Amino acid sequence: MCSSYLFGGNDGIQLDYGYLFYGETRHRHRVVFNEKLRERVIYLAERMHMIFEQGITPIAIKNIKCKNCSLVELCVPELGRKRNTVLNYLTELIREMEDEITGD
Ligand code: SF4
Repeated sequence: MCSSYLFGGNDGIQLDYGYLFYGETRHRHRVVFNEKLRERVIYLAERMHMIFEQGITPIAIKNIKCKNCSLVELCVPELGRKRNTVLNYLTELIREMEDEITGD
């Protein structure tokens, strides 16, 4: 529905602006539907399809937008930052296990 009004849908209605409602803060944010936003939406939609087709799940990086994001409980951006730490932990654990096996 949002893209329909951003680009002009089947009903031919193309709006100049809309509102995003944040349930957490219960605030509305006015969004101007201009050419720059339309180009950005097209670019991001193309990137999204490309990433989906490649089967890549990008690592989420916690940022200020996460606070108001409805996906935060599914996304768990805190794990993105810790990924390297977990990888380092597992690498070190495997190294220690190898040392125990070889007696080093
Ligand atoms: S919670 Fe995830 S999807 Fe939402 S803004 Fe943060 S990184 Fe992006």
